[in-house]
Amino acid sequence: MKQGVIEKVSGPLVISKGLNDAKMYDVVLVSKRRLVGEVIELRGDRASIQVYEETGGLGPGEPVYNTGAPLSVELGPGLTQSIYDGIQRPLDVLRKESGDLLTRGISAPALDRNKKWDFIPQVEAGSEIRTGDILGTVQETTVVEHRVMVPPGIQGTLRSIESGSFTVEDTIGEVHTSDGRTIELKMMQKWPVRKNRPYAKKLPPEMLLVTGQRVIDAFFPLGKGGTGCVPGPFGSGKTVIQHQLAKWADAEIIVYVGCGERGNEMTDVLMEFPELLDPKSGEPLIRRTVLIANTSNMPVAAREASVYTGITIGEYFRDMGYSVALMADSTSRWAEAMREMSGRLEEMPGEEGYPAYLGTRIAEFYERAGRVQCAGSDMREGTLSVVGAVSPPGGDLSDPVVQATLRVVKVFWSLEDKLAYKRHFPAINWLTSYSLYTDSLGPYLVETIGQDWITMREEAMALLQKEAELEEIARLVGVEALSPSDRMILETARSIREDFLHQNAFHEEDTYTSLEKQKALLTIIMHMHERMGDALKAGATPAELFELPVRERIARAKYIPEEQISEILGITDEIDNETRRLTEQTADVGVAGAEVST
Ligand code: ADP
Repeated sequence: MKQGVIEKVSGPLVISKGLNDAKMYDVVLVSKRRLVGEVIELRGDRASIQVYEETGGLGPGEPVYNTGAPLSVELGPGLTQSIYDGIQRPLDVLRKESGDLLTRGISAPALDRNKKWDFIPQVEAGSEIRTGDILGTVQETTVVEHRVMVPPGIQGTLRSIESGSFTVEDTIGEVHTSDGRTIELKMMQKWPVRKNRPYAKKLPPEMLLVTGQRVIDAFFPLGKGGTGCVPGPFGSGKTVIQHQLAKWADAEIIVYVGCGERGNEMTDVLMEFPELLDPKSGEPLIRRTVLIANTSNMPVAAREASVYTGITIGEYFRDMGYSVALMADSTSRWAEAMREMSGRLEEMPGEEGYPAYLGTRIAEFYERAGRVQCAGSDMREGTLSVVGAVSPPGGDLSDPVVQATLRVVKVFWSLEDKLAYKRHFPAINWLTSYSLYTDSLGPYLVETIGQDWITMREEAMALLQKEAELEEIARLVGVEALSPSDRMILETARSIREDFLHQNAFHEEDTYTSLEKQKALLTIIMHMHERMGDALKAGATPAELFELPVRERIARAKYIPEEQISEILGITDEIDNETRRLTEQTADVGVAGAEVST
């Protein structure tokens, strides 16, 4: 290994000299402790190294070894259920060895070298294979079938392939490449984290990623393979949303990157996740999840790497043909890490001290999301959806990280502290948030839940917009001065907000709502609106209508279990009965009144 020496240490940045043939992004090992670092700037034989561990106590003259390889992740069976740090060190394994505060320079392979996996080949010796072709499968957990693929760059004739029990480093077959080499195939492959993994073709997202969160699925949906961002001030619910997505999104694989948020929160995730069960399969959710944890008590530079480590693992599962969802909380911490390194490199600062390349880095990251036709001859499709939380200081949306993110992502869930104070959760502002997928998801939604869902959703959105206008007027002239039909609009909008959009993440029934149930809930609210309109025309007063007992039933409908959706829909009959009774009474009074006056 080529060797240089430390010239200077400045926090996570180490300047070395003498690494003559170092390349940008080479991984180096710093000092005798062999702390992992990455070359991020080269000037002559001086290399600036971002070190992923505490550099305290390091000094000039100590050795620096160049591995000559870029920062890479190990990809193969054993990824799911793992908890890694930003450079894919297995935290659970290391913790067992060195306790909570990781000893510096400690390392362990990301994928267990001793564990044996049962490999079942899918191709036969003699067949032609190319990058991305599935060689065979391993049942990695009860819910994940790991598809072992031909690594990028390899093409040729399969000379042999074996079934049996193998470690990730054992040879499972041999390929004779077109340029005359013989290559041994293993279940593990490596990939440099800063480079996109190849695919055949990018496709537009056309399927809905069901999250079970009503405000998201109904109003601001995310397509499978789409990108979204959740900016919001402290305490507005970013983390809760990300956790809800990680728990409930109908993706086959979840990658959760906890990037430098408060340490104790990450511990919550780590403690909570292994316990959670998937309501659909009854299996622990962790079995389809990869966790990457970089808490604020870990070195700043490791946060920078963690989002890349996460997205590379996400791409790898996408390549197998899975739907993958990646959550990053919070990308502001990642950007701050970039800012700190840039400052130490004395680069020319851009807005708010962030480096001028902030926007490019953010765009490159989100561009790795997508729905793709995977590499490989079977034309399978995979999706990688990415949702990043952003925590701008004071919730200020003009923050450079928010702005750079909004330029690339297609869904914006705007969290507002005003709503959070009122305990309206999720505190997603229904007027300012948007999804640019509503149109492209249209045909899929019509097919799966029906045109009436789209119509109802649009009507509900329009009512909420109307509510905002009417509230302005009501502030000036008082609610009483509004016409009965306007007061009814306010009432229905309130019902949409409270009985539909408001969703308690910590309530057993309310935490997840299937699309079918979402439709039932919105149906009864909109049905009530329609019947109230009819009743008003027939002479009923707003006050009488707002007092109908069925309104309490509508308010509580979201707590009715999934298996009893017909009970929710049954409320439409109650609405019909109660409004009819009311209009009949009104008519009677009208007739009686008419008699008196004659
Ligand atoms: P942030 O990550 O933006 O700082 P959190 O996600 O930690 O905020 O949310 C702050 C608090 O708001 C939570 O501890 C919880 O009490 C409440 N909260 C947020 N979202 C919900 C929700 N959907 N249901 C119930 N409570 C919520």
